[in-house]
Amino acid sequence: MSLDFDGARMSALTEVGFFDGRVNLRHNVVVRIADCLNILEDDVPLARWPVGEVRLLPSAHGMARYGLADPNNLARLEVTDEMLMAAIRRSCPNLGRGDGAVTSRRTTCRIIGWSLAAAASVVGLVIFGLPLAANLLAPHIPQALQYDIGEASAKQLKLVYHAKTCRDPQGQAVLDKLVAKLATAGGLEQPLRPRIIETSIANAMALPGGRVYVFSKLLDEAQTPDELGGVIAHELGHEAHHDSMRRLIESGGTGLLLGMVFGDFTGSAGLVFAANTLINASYSRQAEKRADDYAIKVMTRLGRSPKPFGDLLQRLVRGHDIPQAMSLLADHPTTRSRLAAIAAHDVPDTGPPLLSPPQWVVLRSICKT
Ligand SMILES: [Zn+2]
Repeated sequence: MSLDFDGARMSALTEVGFFDGRVNLRHNVVVRIADCLNILEDDVPLARWPVGEVRLLPSAHGMARYGLADPNNLARLEVTDEMLMAAIRRSCPNLGRGDGAVTSRRTTCRIIGWSLAAAASVVGLVIFGLPLAANLLAPHIPQALQYDIGEASAKQLKLVYHAKTCRDPQGQAVLDKLVAKLATAGGLEQPLRPRIIETSIANAMALPGGRVYVFSKLLDEAQTPDELGGVIAHELGHEAHHDSMRRLIESGGTGLLLGMVFGDFTGSAGLVFAANTLINASYSRQAEKRADDYAIKVMTRLGRSPKPFGDLLQRLVRGHDIPQAMSLLADHPTTRSRLAAIAAHDVPDTGPPLLSPPQWVVLRSICKT
């Protein structure tokens, strides 16, 4: 192991850690500084960071953590050697600029205000165990932290499914309108960021920070706005019940919970863990039932029958082997009883259609432009 900066080769005083932001794996690296920070592992370049883009991020005492200004890039460099820190300080003129670090710093501030609820949850954890602590804590996790986790998860989701976001502005406007209508009917006040992503499997997913993802194959399978609306309302149910954060706390165990309360969870390892957990998460039967009930409530309030939502689920079950990733139907054995419960709420439509026929056409072609 050697450090090599400012052109001078030096013996290693300590290790330099690099996380690529995609896989939760620490690389022991060498850093060479020129117009870029060249990050190498065994002489293989892992990353080249332009010096103007490097930002200093919050970190534990005795260590400096660096990232890039681009908030979508979660790669992190962790340095404990003071000479290397000094060299980076000399070479990178924008280290202290707020953009790259701002989210994390905001998170840190919010965590202070949040610590009372968190401390209560840790007491709950000791006395009652993890599921109860997750229930107590999930609604109180600061928005900024949820935003960071949602952002990391969304990035991972697109990476895993090789998916790109469909960006036709007219289609997006229709989607925004549809989601706003459903959220208002459900009494959901937090800001939402719905997106359609292009994938070959049919699914939908709610991630922290109000991110609602509908996979394009599901949009293709939906025959009416009511069918799609029911699925989105189900995902809004997960959002309203904080299911993704609850799931994250439950899977991460006490270590993650304590890390979120007392540690620096916004470090890249924590975010990568969160992202991987959330996009592979399947919810409990109880959580799915609650989300279905929420969808039934939303559709009924809008004067629309929830039955088309059940019809769409039924077609998906009948027509396909259900892939494991398909969280919408993850509790396969109980799907039949879920469908029966939805169908039991069938009522004649009394409200206006969720979308006009031209809006539906525009939305359905969101990935085709
Ligand atoms: Zn669900």
